[in-house]
Amino acid sequence: MAEYSALQVIRNALGGNEHWKPLWRKPDPKPAYNVIIVGGGGHGLATAYYLASEHGIANVAVLEKGWLGSGNIGRNTTIVRSNYLLPENAAFYEHSMKMWETLSHELNYNVMFSQRGIINLFHTPAQEDEAARRGNAMLLNGVDARFVRPEELGKRMPALDLAGSSRLPVLGGLEQPRAGTARHDAVAWGYARAADRRGVDIIENCEVTGFIRDGTRVTGVNTTRGDIYARKIGVAVAGSTSRVLAMAGIDALPIESHVLQAFVTESVKPCLDCVVTYGGGHLYISQSDKGGLVFGGDIDGYNSYAQRGNLPIVEDVMSEVVELFPAFAKLRLLRSWGGVMDMSMDGSPIITAGPLPGMYLNAGWCYGGFKATPASGFCFAHTIATDEPHPLNAAFSLDRFYRGYVLDEKGQGATPWKH
Ligand SMILES: Cc1cc2nc3c(=O)[nH]c(=O)nc-3n(C[C@H](O)[C@H](O)[C@H](O)COP(=O)(O)OP(=O)(O)OC[C@H]3O[C@@H](n4cnc5c(N)ncnc54)[C@H](O)[C@@H]3O)c2cc1C
Repeated sequence: MAEYSALQVIRNALGGNEHWKPLWRKPDPKPAYNVIIVGGGGHGLATAYYLASEHGIANVAVLEKGWLGSGNIGRNTTIVRSNYLLPENAAFYEHSMKMWETLSHELNYNVMFSQRGIINLFHTPAQEDEAARRGNAMLLNGVDARFVRPEELGKRMPALDLAGSSRLPVLGGLEQPRAGTARHDAVAWGYARAADRRGVDIIENCEVTGFIRDGTRVTGVNTTRGDIYARKIGVAVAGSTSRVLAMAGIDALPIESHVLQAFVTESVKPCLDCVVTYGGGHLYISQSDKGGLVFGGDIDGYNSYAQRGNLPIVEDVMSEVVELFPAFAKLRLLRSWGGVMDMSMDGSPIITAGPLPGMYLNAGWCYGGFKATPASGFCFAHTIATDEPHPLNAAFSLDRFYRGYVLDEKGQGATPWKH
């Protein structure tokens, strides 16, 4: 398998880049494993890696119905942040942030993590109060936060229309300086390569079509490449969670699937060196290393498993881009796409053993699961290996919805289309 070093880079530069080796093997499935992970997205691959690296469990198969990167891990707008309000979410996402800070070294794979900061703009005195409350909560939780005033915003983002035509002038912003972006594909490839090197079988084009049961206990899966047995089966299929669990007879989950779209423009010279969000609507925008403006907004407001969205959201998101940055109206849109989001009822995730014996569930990432990838894999691996939640995911149980102890980060109640 490919090893990366300065020597390799020089050798390949001189040799026409013909000496790179595949990043992971293409093994046939074995009849049985200790652990099967269903779903080869970021979370499934990270879980397999930490099972092997932290718990010495390498007899693991990751079963992916398509190719690695075909799901949300390869479709997101790559924002990494830990600017949460509630202590449970703050601790989990801050742990993830710390893991991001060393991830390229840990995987020996450049995930292009760029801590360029995220600024949440506010436009009314009430929003300013809310930003102050969140910022103070972040500081108390040990997360970095600072207020940014319009003068600084104007200097950092010359294209930003601070007052202009807007009925919602920019009054300031709450910044998390350590937040930023990463290269999403590299995260999938880096974890895949590192897991493969520790003996994990990554099996692409292998769709799970059913669960094999012994009474209530799940003992294996039916797949398009035959039946495979395992002592433990982790499900990390993001937007397909309800469909996959329905195959095991679980048809009532606190999750809805919605499409989220993203957009990228043609490349331009550097003009936006942080991630910025609009408080007058819902827009997040940054500039990629290739120069394109990458942005997105709300989910499409109806349930869907289609990986493409509808025109009203396109119009809505574009109007917000132009509201904040009028000059960007001249840019040509290069591409847009959609991903299926596993929206939980309280906006917080689920990492737990169950809901059936032998099964483990990782879901409910809404549209914030990319930044969670390292901590999610770390905690899910711990839960699978020890049958106990890690302290960081103890609150992310499934039964919190039955007990009423929800983690309603936005205080919006059971409105998954708004989280
Ligand atoms: C447009 C968009 C923008 C986003 N922006 C951000 C952002 O800026 N920051 C952020 O933190 N998060 C963001 N997200 C959310 C983030 O991408 C997801 O929460 C996260 O990627 C989900 O985890 P995953 O990577 O494991 O999912 P996926 O990559 O979707 O992995 C699940 C995998 O399961 C596979 N699967 C499904 N059914 C089966 C089956 N029956 N058998 C085998 N395999 C199966 C799928 O093919 C898929 O590959 C965004 C998402 C989208 C779509």
